[in-house]
Amino acid sequence: MDDKAALVSLVSPCNGTAKWLRGIKVGKSVARDGKIAQVTDAMTGAIGHCVTKIAGDLVQLLVEENETVVQGQVMAMLRKCSHPAFFNSMCVACGETILVEASSSSSSSGGSGATASTKISSLTLSGGVQLQVSQQEAERLQSNKLTSLRSLRKLALVLDLDHTLVHATPASPKYTPDVSAEAAAGIFNLPIEEGPGVIKHHLIKKRPHLDEFLKEAHQSFQLTIYTAGTRKYAEGVAKIMDPTGKLFLGRIVSRSDVPNDKSGGLEKSLQRLFLGDASMVAIIDDREDVWKGEQSAHLLLVKPFVHFVGGAEVNNAAGPSSAMASSATTQVMPPIALSGPRPGELITLAKPEDAVHADDQLVRCLEILKNIHKQYYDKVDDAAKNASSSSSSSSSSSSSSSSSSSSSSSSSSSSSLLSVGNIITDM
Ligand SMILES: [Mg+2]
Repeated sequence: MDDKAALVSLVSPCNGTAKWLRGIKVGKSVARDGKIAQVTDAMTGAIGHCVTKIAGDLVQLLVEENETVVQGQVMAMLRKCSHPAFFNSMCVACGETILVEASSSSSSSGGSGATASTKISSLTLSGGVQLQVSQQEAERLQSNKLTSLRSLRKLALVLDLDHTLVHATPASPKYTPDVSAEAAAGIFNLPIEEGPGVIKHHLIKKRPHLDEFLKEAHQSFQLTIYTAGTRKYAEGVAKIMDPTGKLFLGRIVSRSDVPNDKSGGLEKSLQRLFLGDASMVAIIDDREDVWKGEQSAHLLLVKPFVHFVGGAEVNNAAGPSSAMASSATTQVMPPIALSGPRPGELITLAKPEDAVHADDQLVRCLEILKNIHKQYYDKVDDAAKNASSSSSSSSSSSSSSSSSSSSSSSSSSSSSLLSVGNIITDM
């Protein structure tokens, strides 16, 4: 439809003899202001260049090598960049730049084709790489991701760090590591380089039952860390929790990965990870207020874990609940509560006098996660059974095409209803 409008002609700068530059051919992606051919001026012998005004793909070369051309003659046609993926606001294929809205909705056109005008979504990849993709590509990636999770019979689990999985406190400036004493206390030292020659030490305590929790949750969930901490901090804590790197595989979203975040790290968005369909995602966090809107239905809210009493907070991530956390610090960890419009049942602790073992939030989370996983895949299996029985009993005309369309429509209709958020809300 606007295919024609996306085509741009590239012209000769003078009268002379044309010569294509090396590698120029139909289908090649070229950057804006790139040279594609040289033209030797017939009168002066000076060399001019045929230059792209915008980035895109060459779709037609209209002159032969060494052909005589006149000034303004169209030498090639280029299709404006419509590539699906952008890295740091730059097209990964041709280098075209886009303006990225922080909210990941749509880019704006920079007039005269200075920027690509396309609907984009921002995606955080392993290692904190930010990729912006077109709407179409977003849908394709999303679909692949859901299909991949389903083929593994897994769901996705987004995990907060501070006060959820660990408690961290900055070490005093006079701190010197004492490995054996720290190991005996189950404390890890995390040195972070904050500038040239400036190392800041953090003391990290894992929440009770963390190791077993991660190991077991990993069986049924694809784990991702999402923290208000910096990337260096997040990667350091991830290494403490997951020394082999097999559990998270670099899936970390940190404050450093959201440079345009106007909330200062106080709002989290599943959109950065799941591009519009978070139906297979559960979240565990000690803060409800950072998950706004519909995504809060996916949240299992845990009571903040506090180990270092009176120390400074690394990421001040306990938020409004921190006062409550302080009172809970030394003694009984209050029970888990499900978030959302219907808070779940409060669970009475069996041995409130035992402070360490009383913090069974992760044990309870694991039980709930297993339940969510079972309910989700029971429904998937039911939907698949219904689809196959209805397709086998349907009329025999155009049987093969009708079965494939019925299974795809049933999976799409079931996915609109089937959501971890709905399962949690109904618990
Ligand atoms: Mg937290």
